[in-house]
Amino acid sequence: MTLSNHDAFVRAQDAIPGGVNSPVRAYGSVGGDPRFLASARGAYVTDVAGREYVDLVCSWGPALLGHAHPEVVAAVQEAATRGLSFGAPTVGEVELAEEIRRRVPLTERVRLVSTGTEATMTAIRLARGVTGRDLVVKFAGCYHGHGDALLADAGSGVATLALPGSAGVTAATAGETIVVPYGDLSSVEAAFAQHGPRIAALITEAAPANMGIVTPPDGFNAGLRRITREHGALLIFDEVLTGFRVGPSGWWGLETGSASGPDAAYDPDLFTFGKVVGGGMPVAALGGSAAVMDHLAPLGPVYQAGTLSGNPVAVAAGLATLRLADAGVYAHVDAAAARLSAAVGAALDDAGVPHVVQHAGNLFSVFFGEAAARHGVRTYADAKAQDAFRYTAFFHSMLDSGVNLPPSVFEAWFLSAAHDDAALERIEAALPRAARAAASA
Ligand code: PMP
Repeated sequence: MTLSNHDAFVRAQDAIPGGVNSPVRAYGSVGGDPRFLASARGAYVTDVAGREYVDLVCSWGPALLGHAHPEVVAAVQEAATRGLSFGAPTVGEVELAEEIRRRVPLTERVRLVSTGTEATMTAIRLARGVTGRDLVVKFAGCYHGHGDALLADAGSGVATLALPGSAGVTAATAGETIVVPYGDLSSVEAAFAQHGPRIAALITEAAPANMGIVTPPDGFNAGLRRITREHGALLIFDEVLTGFRVGPSGWWGLETGSASGPDAAYDPDLFTFGKVVGGGMPVAALGGSAAVMDHLAPLGPVYQAGTLSGNPVAVAAGLATLRLADAGVYAHVDAAAARLSAAVGAALDDAGVPHVVQHAGNLFSVFFGEAAARHGVRTYADAKAQDAFRYTAFFHSMLDSGVNLPPSVFEAWFLSAAHDDAALERIEAALPRAARAAASA
């Protein structure tokens, strides 16, 4: 017997806080019953009631190849027959670390963990251990997982629920994080001028994707490199979302690969990865120079560990995904994103909805409102000032038409190599009605 989404949600709320194991899944800002998914294949997901949707969430990023790619599933099945978890090193972990290093050579050493949150938490601890300093600088609207030090003014679900941070983070911990507006090098300079000798690291999303997509201004990331270097602080590039998704070497590869001029290319000290690197299974990573990374235990004094770190079944999924993610995959996702973002823009224009579509490689998102349309969205304050209610109407119309969008205006839209003409045509067919719904909201 099939279950309705409503019945599933009612039952879930009795057993699980809010009925979900990660807040944004609860449709908190768009309202309604979240779709409980039963299966996913290629560009499509199917809910417990048996309804199919074209998926633009892609597990919030990991499904670069589309859902349940047969070769990834086969790799997982094969690994599972050899044992689910050993608590001992495996050759697969070495191969995954080597594949990451091949794509991002600055990661001479890579430590595998299970979630993006662990990766950024460990990167911060490592930066503090290496520098002997305590403060961290982050940007308003950037999300780096739910570690205590990084929740201040965070994007993603913290933005969706309009929270300033989180209860349960001590004032002492919050006081060790300096939050500055995104895109403004003079604010970064000012923070370092005031606190420089105490700053261990600056962490940034390589291209912010958790307040909607905010494309880094030209020279901004290179400027962060210059300032952190001048003050002896580490630069942490959080590529949990962008890594191996916007290109074979992530945002860093895209930006420095196409850079011109002596100051345009830049080298962060630490990278964090997640999502695509696990191909839909719990794998994340941090990487950097041997000189920095070898401060981690067992070589160095900075402790980090995990019973399931580098889990062999999860690693098999990540490795199979990265090995399949060749230039053709990225070219396909880039083309699909360009086509769809143009179609979204055209549909909203036709319906007279003021908006702007912003891009970071093949990631994009839509911001609604006159101010966004006129000036673009460059900061968290800009993102929060948009007409989010128009997205609510747009989202529900698309859902009714069988398209699964992220249930928050602050999230990126994700495409995959499985989004073929048929999938894109289904999305495009749904756009005019959704745009009219946004117009009359
Ligand atoms: N950093 C960034 C940039 C992210 O987008 C996310 C998750 N959306 C994280 C860190 C945290 O990763 P996880 O959800 O795997 O803990």
